[in-house]
Amino acid sequence: MSDTIDTLLLKENFSQADLVTLLNAQGADKTRLYTLSAEIKKQYVGNKVYFRGLVELSNICSKNCLYCGIRSGNAKPGRYMVTEEEVLEAARFALENEYGSMVLQSGERCDERFVDTVSQLLRKIKELSGGKLGITLSMGEQTESTYREWFACGAHRYLIRIETSDRELYQRIHPNDKKHDFDKRIEALKLLREIGYNVGSGVMIGLPFQTIEHLAGDLLFLKQLDVDMVGMGPFIEHEDTPLYQYNDLLWPRKERFDVSLKMVALLRIMMKDINIAATTAMQAIDKQGREKALKAGANIIMPNLTPVKYREDYLLYEDKPCLDEDASECRNCLEARIHMAGDEIGFGEWGDSKHFTKRKAVKE
Ligand code: SAM
Ligand code: SF4
Repeated sequence: MSDTIDTLLLKENFSQADLVTLLNAQGADKTRLYTLSAEIKKQYVGNKVYFRGLVELSNICSKNCLYCGIRSGNAKPGRYMVTEEEVLEAARFALENEYGSMVLQSGERCDERFVDTVSQLLRKIKELSGGKLGITLSMGEQTESTYREWFACGAHRYLIRIETSDRELYQRIHPNDKKHDFDKRIEALKLLREIGYNVGSGVMIGLPFQTIEHLAGDLLFLKQLDVDMVGMGPFIEHEDTPLYQYNDLLWPRKERFDVSLKMVALLRIMMKDINIAATTAMQAIDKQGREKALKAGANIIMPNLTPVKYREDYLLYEDKPCLDEDASECRNCLEARIHMAGDEIGFGEWGDSKHFTKRKAVKE
């Protein structure tokens, strides 16, 4: 075990250079990092894992991010919108199985019809569950009035990944236009916080042109933004996207996975009381990816409740797992995985980020 890592891990605040060293940790150093992140997780957020039943509401998207399989420029996927009854069926399943919360995720659309549909869904989920189900939204950038409307209808968490906190890299992986504006995305995160949401963000790990220095910067960015929750995971290529042309530049998948795990562990050490998701993309690379993420410091799992018939059309990246597993199979598989990771499930609880609860208490 090297002294340097031990000394570094004792620091209250990491510099970018410290984080680069820690992200490069191998062997006994890496084990030390994971031991500490597991201890911190246990101490600050406990060993309860909270479920967020995920509905991939629609793959219709007005944006054209260069990495994403459902970008508007990809003509291959059949475009869909899950029906109201199907969403409510998923909500019933979540309730009956004591998942404390749901996540509604979707391609980005800002038209009135879409905004109204989401508002209506939020009201109905709240009504059906007697307010029991917490709701996270991941619907991309919207107007302030939309954020407020959805908040009033019952959504109380909102996740917008910054994707990368490096402006230049952001511009390289997005079309260069007003719709894909780095500053606007940061503004959206600040606005959501002001409105009162639990705010989440995150990044992709192992993008073409991305360096360990960028990733160290991402960790500092998330800390500085003081987010309540984070969802981050490996970038996985998709053949029908413009970024695929840079495939030769990508780190091997295993390396993207390893660095993603270290990102989770470091974030847990830096932001002790936030919620961190064990993301599906982790499992796409490593069959036990989500358990490993839980051990490294994650405490949120998003079982997929999207009706199976739509899943082939929500392929953000290659080899997305659980395409044919329905909600109950998914539940059984996840429960076993969580117990294997030494955690227990926070049945029926919202499991809001402790960080959010604390900062709200300070404000009041
Ligand atoms: N449209 C909304 C947005 O972009 O914020 C929410 C849905 S979007 C599909 C959710 C996340 O998928 C994105 O924030 C991005 O990080 C992730 N994603 C898209 N393409 C990916 C890829 N090829 N590999 C890994 N993650 C990807
Ligand atoms: Fe649309 Fe989100 Fe995919 Fe970008 S990442 S193309 S906004 S679904």
